[in-house]
Amino acid sequence: MLKLAHQYSASPSCTLSHYMYHGVGIPRNDDVFRIKRHNERVGLRAFSCSFPFPPSDAGRRRWCFCRYDAPPPPMASSSLVRIAVVGDVHGLWNLEEDRMALQLLQPHLVLFTGDFGEENVPLVQSVSLLPFPKAVILGNHDAWYTHDLSRQQNGVQMQLDVLGDEHVGYRRLDFPSLKLSIVGGRPFSHGGDQLFRKKLLVRRYGVVDMDSSAGRICSAVQGTPDDHLVVILAHNGPTGLGSQAEDVCGKDWDGEGGDHGDPDLEQAICQLKETTSLPIPLVVFGHMHKVLQSRKGSRKMVVEGSDKKTLYLNGAIVPRVKRTKVDDHCHDSLSGFMRNEKWKAAAESEGESTARAFTVVEILDGIVEKIAETWVHVDGSNARIVEEETLYLYRNVGGFQPGASV
Ligand SMILES: [Zn+2]
Repeated sequence: MLKLAHQYSASPSCTLSHYMYHGVGIPRNDDVFRIKRHNERVGLRAFSCSFPFPPSDAGRRRWCFCRYDAPPPPMASSSLVRIAVVGDVHGLWNLEEDRMALQLLQPHLVLFTGDFGEENVPLVQSVSLLPFPKAVILGNHDAWYTHDLSRQQNGVQMQLDVLGDEHVGYRRLDFPSLKLSIVGGRPFSHGGDQLFRKKLLVRRYGVVDMDSSAGRICSAVQGTPDDHLVVILAHNGPTGLGSQAEDVCGKDWDGEGGDHGDPDLEQAICQLKETTSLPIPLVVFGHMHKVLQSRKGSRKMVVEGSDKKTLYLNGAIVPRVKRTKVDDHCHDSLSGFMRNEKWKAAAESEGESTARAFTVVEILDGIVEKIAETWVHVDGSNARIVEEETLYLYRNVGGFQPGASV
């Protein structure tokens, strides 16, 4: 049951003034919708403190949502569009800390490549409260237990309900002020030539095979305003981008090697390029993690299409959060984290804190100018960039003009 508590003293990691809604057990979507409606009415934006919060007492799982007066996201200045990609989350999400990091990065738009957890509904509810324009595609882990939608209440349906229009699977979301449209690929993809969760795809989307899936993606593009760029958001990338283990969608297990991309996505992109004049400067996806399963090196995360008109970006930096203290999630990444002198200094001065990964894309006048893997250090009261690795720079590659003939 949802209750609105009185204003309470801020959590140790937050300096903002809070009002808290709290409950026990798993929060219901109804509760999230009610908070959103209430906040819209009073002109506030909602977010949650960490889940569960406050810490569980008497063995009961408690949770809360807070509201506060957030500054609005930045408007597009001239024709610069900055996109922050949150790659596969795999449980590593904290709305307060990720909001602080994004407030520093100032994106116009946030894209999520899915795999939030194993049908982790509370986490997806928390993502839905992020006060930035955003688009989401659910991954194979987000349909971990649900094989079809015959039961009315299931984790997949709850995630789809709470995300609403922001889930772009086989849909388009227009951002007129940015002159940009996000088009979603096939939800729940796990890569390769077989449909994952086919019953679910049949029942919800009428998709029975790869051809009909490609058709659904193309249909979603119909009606895109002529002056918009199209950015495709999928859980897994398309086939055709290489078959080495380290390629952007390369298979890195079972002997390694092989193209593990989605054939329907490649088919759809080819068809769109043949039949429309809409520029598609960027395709964003995740699923295939940056660190190869063999632990021998890293995956290529950005590759240019053979027609030099489209960049393919894999955002799956996993784990996406590194802590300065050992915990269950991040033990493996601790040594890497501590090697960075700036992070080490931050850890020593501030106790436990986190560094959070985003891939930041800057598009200027319709051209992708820069892509960078960006780590933001967040402590209780501030956020700062501690590492930035440039993955792509337009002027370094001679450049290409989306939509122009080559
Ligand atoms: Zn996945």
